Amino acid sequence: MGVRKRLKIGVHCSIRKGHKNALYEAYELGCSCLQMFTHSPRIWKFILPSEKEIEEFKLLRKQLGLSPLAIHTAYLPNPASSIQEIYKKTRDLLLLEFELAEMFSADYLVMHPGSYSEGKKIQDGLRQVVSCIDYCFEKTIAKFGNIHFKLLLENVCGNGRKIGRTFSEIAEIIFRSKFPKKIGICIDTAHAFAFGYNITTEEGISELLYEIKTNIGHKKIMLIHLNDTTSPLGSRIDRHYHIGKGCIGIEGFKTILRYFAEYPLLLETPKETSFDRVSPYDKKNLDMVRNLITHSQ
Ligand SMILES: [Zn+2]
Ligand SMILES: [Zn+2]
Repeated sequence: MGVRKRLKIGVHCSIRKGHKNALYEAYELGCSCLQMFTHSPRIWKFILPSEKEIEEFKLLRKQLGLSPLAIHTAYLPNPASSIQEIYKKTRDLLLLEFELAEMFSADYLVMHPGSYSEGKKIQDGLRQVVSCIDYCFEKTIAKFGNIHFKLLLENVCGNGRKIGRTFSEIAEIIFRSKFPKKIGICIDTAHAFAFGYNITTEEGISELLYEIKTNIGHKKIMLIHLNDTTSPLGSRIDRHYHIGKGCIGIEGFKTILRYFAEYPLLLETPKETSFDRVSPYDKKNLDMVRNLITHSQ
């Protein structure tokens, strides 16, 4: 195996047939880590998993040796909203996400900062996000005594009024929060590229890393969402695609992996298959990444 640390690589797994199924799926694919939702990401209300289910999940995860576990928040919440009704609904749901992340012993809870409201400024949105996540931190800590997971803010491709396009925007959230030590970042390669960071080149990656270093610090990088995209550089369109087959391409990923192979890598590439079976595309994409790492050194 050489001197390389054990590769941390996985995919977003389905909980359609229960939370444990996500673990079996990751294991079957030969993953060492995984990402999942704790509930359907497109609805506001859902039935909470029982304590027994969660205990069984944690035990199985230990047995299968899957680490880290990242939980992605639902798509509906918008913590940057200035519309009280949406903001409050978001806060309630996000608090549940925080509690579930702690109960599932997740390592990371990944979220997008959301979109600021029409007629408002980006600063208004940033203020809403900070107040929302601080509320969730306070409540969760009050309930559990402490929090063991890190909240990861993910960069987005920046269409519309979305916040979190740049790492200086993300830095504002982290350092305005009362809990900066409990927050890290997740870099999504498809989003970064679609926003306009040309991470297919050494210069582009150096610029991105410099921005992170000066605004946030490299230590805050905790997770990479490794995705190709069919959206051209700077197009601001979010369209994930198979590794090496999109605009980032094989050479682009070789460059990316020279810098990021030591981090946990999670793929959110298209499944192209019904959720009741393991995607052959996941297998192909994982193999592709492993190959590229071997050939990128
Ligand atoms: Zn995401
Ligand atoms: Zn992502």
